[in-house]
Amino acid sequence: MCGIVGYIGQQQAAPILLDGLSKLEYRGYDSAGVAVFDGDGISVNKARGRLEALYNKIDGGNTVSGSMGIGHTRWATHGEPSDVNAHPHLSRSGRFAVVHNGIIENYIALKKRLISKGFEFISDTDTEVVAHLFEYYYKGDIIETMIKVIQKVEGSYALGVLCSDYPDQFVAVRKSSPLIVGLGQGENFIASDVTAILKYTREIYRLEDNEIVVLKKDGVKIYNTDKEEIQKETNTINWDVSAAEKGGYEHFMMKEMEEQPKALRDTISPRIKDGRVILDDVSLTPEYVKNINTIHIVACGSAYHVGMVGKYIIEQMTRIPVNVDIASEFHYRDPIMSDKDLTIVISQSGETADTRAALDRAKEKGSRILAIVNVVGSAIANAADDVIYTWAGPEIAVATTKAYSTQLAVIYLLALHMADALGKISADEYADMIEEIQSLPDKVEEILKNKDNIQYLASKFFSSKSIFFIGRNLDYAVSLEGSLKLKEISYIHSEAYAAGELKHGTISLIEDGTLVIALATGGRLFDKTVSNMKEVKARGAVVLGLTTNEHPNIHDAADYVIEIPKTHELLLPSLAVVPLQLFGYYVASLKGCDIDKPRNLAKSVTVE
Ligand code: GLU
Repeated sequence: MCGIVGYIGQQQAAPILLDGLSKLEYRGYDSAGVAVFDGDGISVNKARGRLEALYNKIDGGNTVSGSMGIGHTRWATHGEPSDVNAHPHLSRSGRFAVVHNGIIENYIALKKRLISKGFEFISDTDTEVVAHLFEYYYKGDIIETMIKVIQKVEGSYALGVLCSDYPDQFVAVRKSSPLIVGLGQGENFIASDVTAILKYTREIYRLEDNEIVVLKKDGVKIYNTDKEEIQKETNTINWDVSAAEKGGYEHFMMKEMEEQPKALRDTISPRIKDGRVILDDVSLTPEYVKNINTIHIVACGSAYHVGMVGKYIIEQMTRIPVNVDIASEFHYRDPIMSDKDLTIVISQSGETADTRAALDRAKEKGSRILAIVNVVGSAIANAADDVIYTWAGPEIAVATTKAYSTQLAVIYLLALHMADALGKISADEYADMIEEIQSLPDKVEEILKNKDNIQYLASKFFSSKSIFFIGRNLDYAVSLEGSLKLKEISYIHSEAYAAGELKHGTISLIEDGTLVIALATGGRLFDKTVSNMKEVKARGAVVLGLTTNEHPNIHDAADYVIEIPKTHELLLPSLAVVPLQLFGYYVASLKGCDIDKPRNLAKSVTVE
């Protein structure tokens, strides 16, 4: 988490740093700061709160002069959000300024050692040890100092470092936290994410762990930890700049929900040719698929919910057992697996630290790794054996929508591909499924066109204290995501329950007027879920049913109904999730919440 930007060039650095940080604010937004070298020394300005506070403090950057600087927008892990804990952090003499994304896990030992050497700490952050370590090890060579520092620190870091002895260059490095280098004309950049620099350049380097980069205005050099220069390929970013702008929408979340049909088309179309799923990007041969023992899907947050849907779909279509795990749990429970297992990791950013750690664990156990990620060249993509990219484009709102939808689309394609390899699907069923997958973008578009009904329903329930979601099988898996969407942005307590499980305890929480959103989209379990709807209704709940236009009799059990178009039963999650995203959005909007930047959260969780 947190956003880092660095600039060196001919222009004034501070306004460019602020502009870059504004694109990265989704990564962290409890405080922000910039350090700029003004020709004599390093000046640091920081402010607690949103970037706007810093912007106002330095008049959009106009009060800070200098054409080399680093900036940071923080998501605190160590020490409360405050001016003093905000980055950049200075070393004792003020010679070094450091911005950091990640966690220095051995900072306590390092801090004690530095204190014993006479260093004084003014912040509660782990990052301040890095600034002092630079000073401690500095013997006049910035690269050698960087090498020494990264040998001492443990954990994850992306670092941008200014040194006042080097008026014409600054240095950066990363390990397990994202950082890219932007290559301009007479100016160069670092950033946590390309969105921060797209306006200035599309040529970038993606840094590998512990590659040290030295940026001057007319060139960039990269070194390994033996101080040998290394040559790297540049990448060209072809995202449209507007993809990272709000484009007239009030919130990124609404823009991104509206972009789902396109994101789905972009993800699905190139992978279906002549009625067949073509996964050029992976080498899952029929022989390999036939020998898979177990599939493990490992992810966090909404990506984990995609995994929950994936379990039902892949098991049903392939009859291969699927375990779904929360990455942070999987990693530490010594999972039982072998080289006959396939591990599917799912992450929008491809930088999610928990998922990355789980990937390493699965790899150690000999499992093959297939990653579903959105960001090309990200750490998880690089570490996996195979990658299937979701072509969702940049997702800025903290609450995911289009990344979730495209991840789900990849699961369908994968399940179909494997079912076919195993001979578990007839030609007719295959053709039917292909047709239905291809029609999903249009159907999502249809749901988005009718969002007024959802807005109306949100207006009836936005003052609820607690909202329950229930469903069975696939509907349960989607309920998990609907509930998360609502609670993360509207701060209304919510739980998702397997519909049949509610009566085993949680039904005691249902009181007069409690809203229960019941998903009963499929035909097979429709009647069973309707019974559960009646159970909660009998205890005073108000029931909002979500179903397809094939089930008009839901009105018997529901007070309100949301209808979605019908499709193949296994594909219904793709449609059912959209009204739930919209519901969460409108409830949060009516409550006046900060939808794109919900409290305490950040987008790419690059710390464990
Ligand atoms: N661990 C550092 C801090 O708490 C950096 C957090 C971040 O990545 O924003 O200041």
